[in-house]
Amino acid sequence: MIRRLCIIGVGLIGGSLARALRAAGEVEEIVGASRDAAHLQKAVDLGVIDRYETDLSAAVAGADMVFVSVPLGAMRTVFEAIKGSLDTGAVVTDAGSAKGSVVEDVQSVFASVPAWFVPGHPIAGTEESGVEASVAELYRGRRVILTPLPETRVEATLRVRSMWEATGAVVREMDVKHHDEILAATSHLPHLLAFTLVESLARMSEKREIFEYAAGGFRDFTRIASSDPVMWRDICLANRDAVLDLLHHFGKDLDVLASAIRNRDEKSILQLFQDAKAARDMFAG
Ligand code: NAP
Repeated sequence: MIRRLCIIGVGLIGGSLARALRAAGEVEEIVGASRDAAHLQKAVDLGVIDRYETDLSAAVAGADMVFVSVPLGAMRTVFEAIKGSLDTGAVVTDAGSAKGSVVEDVQSVFASVPAWFVPGHPIAGTEESGVEASVAELYRGRRVILTPLPETRVEATLRVRSMWEATGAVVREMDVKHHDEILAATSHLPHLLAFTLVESLARMSEKREIFEYAAGGFRDFTRIASSDPVMWRDICLANRDAVLDLLHHFGKDLDVLASAIRNRDEKSILQLFQDAKAARDMFAG
């Protein structure tokens, strides 16, 4: 059981963790922290946190578990603010959607990766943000990836693992680079494609008509383009190399499709769509 959990960034991800642990009876006290007192007061009013601090060093004092769920671009500032204020024995983990950049931030602030730091990433979310969107069931049955480093104390990883398991999540471990490559393909590329498609259509002169006649397929494909732009700017910059590799690869595949269409190559087009349907049906099943 966690005695005092400090959540830095009480939005969708941090708020949902707070709600889930409270519902499971796994935490005694939850202290929230971020930049804006009005956001934190909202979290208190919703019963998500018990109290808050806008001074991050005061927020982490006395906490035995610290969860950092701010956008990737804010991670380094947060680590700088809490340096020197953590209790001995406190474990720190995060929710960042890319792991290499978070590890670099921790390394640069603390000179090396501290034994009490366990990088993590819940593979769950919605296109909404903020504490109002948080729900206790967000993590039930979903995966959480932990990417402990050789420096990470085994006991710290076990504590973070049991925290996530209390939310109903299934915890997996992998190395940082592998995480970033997999997530670039399964999450980052689809988000970038959705944002780019919608933005590209929105720039066309017939945009009113395009959106007026958009049907279910367009809605399904573009739902994630309603996600938070700041968060996604940070993710594609944080996971730059893996994202660029995939964009390059995907661009070549689009060229292949365009050339098949140009050449009226029925066989290749059908083969591509059949392979895609088989893969998607297997994944969905
Ligand atoms: P969110 O709902 O926008 O919440 C982010 C929180 O961070 C806000 O409460 C904000 O509060 C706080 N914040 C922002 N900058 C800060 C700073 N410099 N110092 C202190 N607090 C700061 O975002 P989220 O969806 O929960 O995402 C949080 C993290 O989880 C991100 O790293 C993201 O990559 C990761 N993640 C997101 C999803 C998803 O689907 N959304 C899934 C998995 C992982 P104030 O405005 O009051 O400062």
